[in-house]
Amino acid sequence: MNEPSYPAALTELMDLLRGLPGVGKRTAERMALCMFQWDEERRQALSENLRTLSSRICRCRECGNLAGEEEQNLCGICASPFRDHSLVCVVEEPTQIRSIEAGGVFKGVYHVLGGRLAPLEGRGPDSLSLKPLDDRIAAGSVQELILALSPDVEGQATAVYLADRYQDSPLKISRLAQGLPAGSDLSYADPATIAIALNGRTSFHREGR
Ligand code: ZN
Repeated sequence: MNEPSYPAALTELMDLLRGLPGVGKRTAERMALCMFQWDEERRQALSENLRTLSSRICRCRECGNLAGEEEQNLCGICASPFRDHSLVCVVEEPTQIRSIEAGGVFKGVYHVLGGRLAPLEGRGPDSLSLKPLDDRIAAGSVQELILALSPDVEGQATAVYLADRYQDSPLKISRLAQGLPAGSDLSYADPATIAIALNGRTSFHREGR
């Protein structure tokens, strides 16, 4: 019944890997032993990638999505001439852009808030990235704002806040159609479900809550 004991270096690696989502003790053990068996070149490549990761990735200066340094701080979506820049889908995190893009129906661009409102945890509007969105709207290029926020209490509170914030602008403000599982995080929603919710989006009315 005794657990096998590993050298400290391997135990440390296992502990680090266990911080990853979905990686439990056994998986971390298998991963660490597998990495130990890699050739030196492959291990070096992984360690070099991790070492330089944060310096090679930045936030898109337009929407807040992740962008590579070689893209001059503009993500591939904002840089694309084939996207409709008058249609802005507001999401909480960059991972949600990936879910929506996987659905393949959205042709507009995005804005990443960097979180959502949670007054009880001290996260108010100041904790969100709103200035770049204000600027884009003030520049007059945005016609529709789609609030693609998670269907839970905090996500919906954030949607209401945004609808109020921009209620005096001539923007059309819409929200995803019902159908996403209540309380779920959009990052992990099925892309086909998100696509249907996007296509069936409805005008945002406070009384419709
Ligand atoms: Zn962008």
